[in-house]
Amino acid sequence: MTPKLKDRFLDKHGVEVYVKREDMIDQHISGNKWRKLKYNMLHALYSGREVAHRVTQCIITFGGAFSNHIAATAATASKCKMKAIGIIRGEELSEQPLNPTLAAAAANGMIFKFINREEYRLLTSKSEDVRLHPAIRHLVPEGGANWLGMYGCSEILRDVELASSSHDLREFDIVCTACGTGSTLAGMSLAAAPENRLIGFPVLKGAQFLESDVEEQLQWFYETHGIKLDPIYTGKMMKGIYQLIQQGQIADSRVLAIHTGGLQGIAGVELKTGKKLFDS
Ligand SMILES: *Cc1c(COP(=O)(O)O)cnc(C)c1O
Repeated sequence: MTPKLKDRFLDKHGVEVYVKREDMIDQHISGNKWRKLKYNMLHALYSGREVAHRVTQCIITFGGAFSNHIAATAATASKCKMKAIGIIRGEELSEQPLNPTLAAAAANGMIFKFINREEYRLLTSKSEDVRLHPAIRHLVPEGGANWLGMYGCSEILRDVELASSSHDLREFDIVCTACGTGSTLAGMSLAAAPENRLIGFPVLKGAQFLESDVEEQLQWFYETHGIKLDPIYTGKMMKGIYQLIQQGQIADSRVLAIHTGGLQGIAGVELKTGKKLFDS
């Protein structure tokens, strides 16, 4: 599904924005996290069969306590009947009771190991060295950011559901996504057409967008377009797109914005801030 946005601001600037709804893939395995997990899971499922009698298949990965990647990995592993271990940044005590992301992951059978930030940094900076138990078939880096993940992300643009918007990929002047590790953007660049200009909006702390403004815009965007965005990634991307239009840096163009998902994170943000982001 790739609906076209309609509002007066876009009309005025002669910009067409289409939103590719990767958020609709699944509630927990949403958007780019599914794309990144797809080939990682296939690899985990089909590698190492030569080990004599069947051991329980297990995947291990890393993430923060509110991570979309942790939520997605737990849900995917559960569907694939694999065990999943999540190495979570932060002390366990600070996460009791479990926040909504971890509670959902635990309900999907994920087992957690909580480690402090320093240990986490050491472990994730050289994760190839982590000694794997033979039952652990596959290690997925934080955010699913490896070659298999990137390759999966190329399918965001290869996916010809785009046809439902009656536009060919080549007809988009600009293709936008939110960036954390940048591997989604890198993967998309593998499939982009020469006509597309790719823009990645960095969202991590220290990036230029202020979270508080983003929250107000989420409400406006939802009321106007009926599409929920998350405050961490897609809300910032959309805000960035509107800012570039406002500044005249995007004009008279057809834009494809990727809704990379992340809506599972809303409950966690609401819990942290004590504010509801959406009325419904
Ligand atoms: C993880 C995530 C991103 C960032 O993806 P990277 O490949 O790390 O750049 C963007 N949007 C959502 C919703 C995400 O969960």
